[in-house]
Amino acid sequence: MKEETTLIIMKPDAVLRNLLGEIVSRFERKGLKIVGMKMVKLEDTLLENHYSHLKDKPFFESLKNYMQSSPVIVMALSGVNAISATRLIVGPTKGYEADAGSIRGDLSISGQTNIVHASDSPETAKEELERFFSKDELFNYDRLDLDFIYGEDERE
Ligand code: UDP
Ligand code: MG
Repeated sequence: MKEETTLIIMKPDAVLRNLLGEIVSRFERKGLKIVGMKMVKLEDTLLENHYSHLKDKPFFESLKNYMQSSPVIVMALSGVNAISATRLIVGPTKGYEADAGSIRGDLSISGQTNIVHASDSPETAKEELERFFSKDELFNYDRLDLDFIYGEDERE
């Protein structure tokens, strides 16, 4: 089984709209394990590195303003196939195109203020976890409900 860790950012609209508990709860109930979590202010350099693939886009300045409009919560989530499973829970980029049931589909109607960020591949997950967390900020423990979360043949 492929145990993975992925990076989530609960963006300023999640913080300012009081949606943090709602979002954390969805990941918890799915069976993903929170192995790191903290509140940070996204400074210019950090944000420019995180969104370097978008730096030439016309919306880059507005994206920066949005992402700096309040502190954000960064979270590391672990589980089997956590990276792709998390992207499915989050939904596609534009809230107005996202299926009901996904976080963006249920909580966002915008192409920019879309509540959460989630790593989109093993490569970006590794890079983003290193960008936001030091080693001693990530923890290893077993959830008590592990026997019910995975089938016997899916456990390590
Ligand atoms: N974004 C935007 N306008 C666009 C496309 C994206 O403001 O036309 C913002 C949006 O907040 C998105 C982020 O830039 O979540 C990163 O874009 P990406 O294509 O990586 O989407 P994601 O991986 O977040 O789904
Ligand atoms: Mg992306």
